[in-house]
Amino acid sequence: MAGTHRQPEVNIGLVGHVDHGKTTLVRALSGEWTDQHSEEMKRGISIRLGYADATFRRCPEEEPPECYTVEEHCEEHDVDTEVARTVSFVDAPGHETLMATMLSGAALMDGAVLVVGANEEVPQPQTEEHLMALDIIGIENVVIAQNKVDLVDAEQARENYQQIEEFVEGTVAEGAPVVPVSAEQEINLDVLIETIEEEIPTPERDPDADPRMYVARSFDINRPGTTWEGLTGGVLGGSLVAGELDVDDDLELRPGREVEEGGQSEWQPITTNVRSLQAGGENVDTVTPGGLLGVGTGLDPSMTKGDALAGQVAGHPEALPPTWESFEMDVDLLERLVGAEEGETIDPINTGEPLMLTVGTATTVGAVTSARDGECEVNLKRPVCAEEGDVIAINRRVGARWRLIGIGRLQG
Ligand code: GDP
Ligand code: MG
Repeated sequence: MAGTHRQPEVNIGLVGHVDHGKTTLVRALSGEWTDQHSEEMKRGISIRLGYADATFRRCPEEEPPECYTVEEHCEEHDVDTEVARTVSFVDAPGHETLMATMLSGAALMDGAVLVVGANEEVPQPQTEEHLMALDIIGIENVVIAQNKVDLVDAEQARENYQQIEEFVEGTVAEGAPVVPVSAEQEINLDVLIETIEEEIPTPERDPDADPRMYVARSFDINRPGTTWEGLTGGVLGGSLVAGELDVDDDLELRPGREVEEGGQSEWQPITTNVRSLQAGGENVDTVTPGGLLGVGTGLDPSMTKGDALAGQVAGHPEALPPTWESFEMDVDLLERLVGAEEGETIDPINTGEPLMLTVGTATTVGAVTSARDGECEVNLKRPVCAEEGDVIAINRRVGARWRLIGIGRLQG
């Protein structure tokens, strides 16, 4: 039906170099601006992952690709368009030091659109960095948007296209379709939508699977001075990656909170229930994977304020993966630091060194207790809830910054 909102069914990452047009493209496809965070506005880069839903539509009187649009009405044939699919774009930050955020978002991506500016040499540093991330995480459904074609002539566009093809050779994006577009002039967006529809299908989901939500944000939505009768419970923001969640479900959060008992401290899961659910800005009774969702809980709002529960995993009680205070992981190191000069190789991981690890939406520092070729053991400062086989982004301190050095897989 025209005009009705639908919960998005797939998450698509928007990646690529800063200023190549990711946010402009999301806006052209969804009518929303993902750079909403005030700090983002100030700095002009997306610090937190911005989500924006887009409903792709089809004009019943046209053939593909011309039929594809985001308009509810087709002016040319004077008919309402039909919904093809609602997707959620995750606008990844372009800033190099925010790679961990990008990677934690990557865990939620079902596919990606790599935006490459047609008016610059390929690759620019974050184009390379983001493609490397897609590659190591194994996100295979990739569409390349060759943006800003309005700024180049045909010859330059062809040359840029050649550079893109060479650049993606041997990566997960090899053979990915390259669609020339202008996000700003809204040129060729119908072909881009058609290509996304074909290349990034909605994954098959098991509705009976245990629900698992990665918590990316948490808030206290009460105004200061609200009396206890009027208080609304704490709110969680994040994404469901499996199963379904219903209003009134019991909810458990892991790793939960640190509790002191007899001089010993221990992490205990937090339990509450689901009071309300929001998807795509509307209250709903049930949520399924895709897009960003809000969960109103029975938690004391002081527990959720200021993203205090970001990085937790939520699901049904007794049905979540285990909590780890230390673990062993398989390690795949990159050949060199991303965006680095030739020759800046990565030394093996050393026993005793601190690493910053991103697991789902959780970021924690781990001390390496033993390192061997291709694997290592870490002791975590803050425990994480994760499953064997989960992907871990590994960062090492190089100079003043944490830099991505490789990817791990949790072994146990
Ligand atoms: P992001 O950093 O990748 O999110 O890039 P933005 O979407 O913020 O775009 C950066 C700049 O490029 C802005 O000034 C946009 O107006 C401009 N821009 C984006 N897409 C196009 C395009 O297709 N053509 C032209 N000429 N400019 C564009
Ligand atoms: Mg942007």
